[in-house]
Amino acid sequence: MAMERTLVLVKPDAIQRGLIGEIVGRFERKGLKLVGMKMMSLDGAILREHYAHLADKPFFGSLSAFMQSNPVIAMCWEGLECVDAVRLLCGITKARAAESGSIRGDLAMSVSCNVVHASDSVENAQAEVKRFFKADEIYDYQKSEYVHVYAEDELI
Ligand code: UDP
Ligand code: MG
Repeated sequence: MAMERTLVLVKPDAIQRGLIGEIVGRFERKGLKLVGMKMMSLDGAILREHYAHLADKPFFGSLSAFMQSNPVIAMCWEGLECVDAVRLLCGITKARAAESGSIRGDLAMSVSCNVVHASDSVENAQAEVKRFFKADEIYDYQKSEYVHVYAEDELI
């Protein structure tokens, strides 16, 4: 078991729909620790890197335009094995088929406009946190709640 950090983006559709607080609240209530957060505008260069695995897809152009249509909120969340935990909280890509109770399952209907991005592996999470945050934008601090969120042997 390991403490991990993962990247979450609150996408342009969620900002337009007034869902920032709802989305942030779900990660907070889960017991995760917010260690970085900022609003930022994405450009074509960062999106070509971030969505490199989709560069050949026919929807890449519209996805890139959507992600640049207004700012996003970039967040870095920390927790025990939190890369997978955050993906589960977000639900599958196709929001209208995502499990009820998940962020996408509860808050969205679209495949493209699916309100959040979350890193899909520990390796990608490390690269994505670096892509969106400078080292001094990530904050190390003690969260007193941890003694209630985790058992003692999980915190070693
Ligand atoms: N996407 C899309 N059409 C598709 C598949 C993906 O517009 O057919 C968008 C959607 O916004 C998705 C993002 O591209 O969240 C990244 O795709 P990925 O397969 O990595 O899904 P995710 O990891 O976000 O669930
Ligand atoms: Mg992905």
